[in-house]
Amino acid sequence: MSWSGTVTCSYCYQRGHNKRKCPQLTEQIKGKYEGNMLAAAAERERVNQEETNEQNIKWYESRAEEYRQQYIKRTKIDLATGEKVTNKAAKAERMKKVTCGYCKERGHTRRVCAVVKRDKQVFIEESRRARVAAFEHAANLGIGVGSMVPIRLTGWNAAQEYGTHTNLRYVKSVDWDTCDSNRPKLFAYHMDARKLGAPDQARHTSRDSFDNLRKAHQDARDHAFTLEQKPPMASLIPTLDMPAGWLQPTEQSMKANLQREFPTTGNEYNKARNWGYKYPEGTTIEVIKDLGLQEHYENVS
Ligand SMILES: [Zn+2]
Ligand SMILES: [Zn+2]
Repeated sequence: MSWSGTVTCSYCYQRGHNKRKCPQLTEQIKGKYEGNMLAAAAERERVNQEETNEQNIKWYESRAEEYRQQYIKRTKIDLATGEKVTNKAAKAERMKKVTCGYCKERGHTRRVCAVVKRDKQVFIEESRRARVAAFEHAANLGIGVGSMVPIRLTGWNAAQEYGTHTNLRYVKSVDWDTCDSNRPKLFAYHMDARKLGAPDQARHTSRDSFDNLRKAHQDARDHAFTLEQKPPMASLIPTLDMPAGWLQPTEQSMKANLQREFPTTGNEYNKARNWGYKYPEGTTIEVIKDLGLQEHYENVS
């Protein structure tokens, strides 16, 4: 902007427009487009001669495409058709260039990817089945919420001695929500029974699978047996009450699980589709068939 308030074009040095609107530059771009198209055509003409080179044709065409896009940006006119480009057509043109970060197909983004939508459906159903099995398995171990379970564990005992001790644990709760097809086990939160009245309960709380709890309980009994002591006092409550809806997982209720399984952050590899869905095997195949999605998956018929 000069003192008089009119702009000067940095391309043609005339006043009254800037470079972005410069008619001379616009014409220049059109000329370059046409020149490259002619050069590509000339290369193609020489198709039977030895000096014809596919690479040359491609090079002229890619240059022409660049100038075509620049011209569209400036004038909204597509030199290939001579017609005005609508916003919708312009968007379609742009979308041709995007690649989906999930399935790596061109022409759409992850946000609207049908592949990730289907894979999520499969994951949720796989997780529902994993939960049925995990629940049945954990319930059969006979340790439920409210149980008092002596277990062998490594840490500090009441006498401030470090080592492996028998410690009475109170089973506080179940980590229901993390259970899915990728983490198909139920975990319990359990705490030192002597610290039940302590204000900082989190410090005394651990998380273990019910399997590990059962095993550590058996270790405590075995240990007493080798010392010819009577088994440590236990009070096992076998019931496990699952929360309502836990066996009917939905996209909503599994939001955190889906975020872990289908991350949208991290590196390109993390965000991309994993092999378990690209080339499904075993129970994944069964689930795909039961959902009627086989036509969309490799290896599934
Ligand atoms: Zn100009
Ligand atoms: Zn996709």
